[in-house]
Amino acid sequence: MNSHQIRFDEDLVRRYDRSGPRYTSYPTAVQFSDRFGVNEYRAVAVASNQDPIPRPLSLYVHIPFCSSPCFYCGCTKVITRNHEKAEAYLYRLHREIEMQGELYDRDRVVEQLHFGGGTPTFLTSLEIERLVEKIGQHYNLSSDEGREYSIELDPRTITTDTLRDLYRIGFNRCSLGIQDFDPAVQEAVNRVQSVPDTLRLIREAHPRHGCNCSN
Ligand code: SF4
Repeated sequence: MNSHQIRFDEDLVRRYDRSGPRYTSYPTAVQFSDRFGVNEYRAVAVASNQDPIPRPLSLYVHIPFCSSPCFYCGCTKVITRNHEKAEAYLYRLHREIEMQGELYDRDRVVEQLHFGGGTPTFLTSLEIERLVEKIGQHYNLSSDEGREYSIELDPRTITTDTLRDLYRIGFNRCSLGIQDFDPAVQEAVNRVQSVPDTLRLIREAHPRHGCNCSN
């Protein structure tokens, strides 16, 4: 065999030649079990406070609303253009933040925060700001420049003003989805997202180009 030939492990290929669980939670949903309920979760959370050096925290906040469906999407989402639907969700989310926040000692700094979805910017900047304030009331949010506070953006809807708001609120990272730039594919998957809009967002979100990160 020359050095450019690849040898596949057939057992390995057979083992993984099937659909797997979605990667978006860990443990994955198929590993969820009644044997690990609320009490077990509380016990593990409280025990995690006992380390001699307080362990930092990573928080994920899911905003499930999108104004139109991308046909390839497997995320947990609610397709709606009715903004009022977000209000009931936010009410419960604020309550969830209070309950979860009680479990963790305040000397544990939140080094990573991620808003995902759905489309987090389905919420107004004011709603996002109130949500981050609420998290700050119940957790120890970091002001360190090395913190990773990120949010998913949809290039089809984000304005320069929204970027500025997000930076002011405390986000210093963003992510955006690009499935394909072929217009035919974009039509087929119901996500028409132009190259100029995508490039504009990348450029404006970059600190060197000064839009959101310069103020
Ligand atoms: S915007 Fe994101 S979450 Fe919403 S349908 Fe499209 S891919 Fe899914």
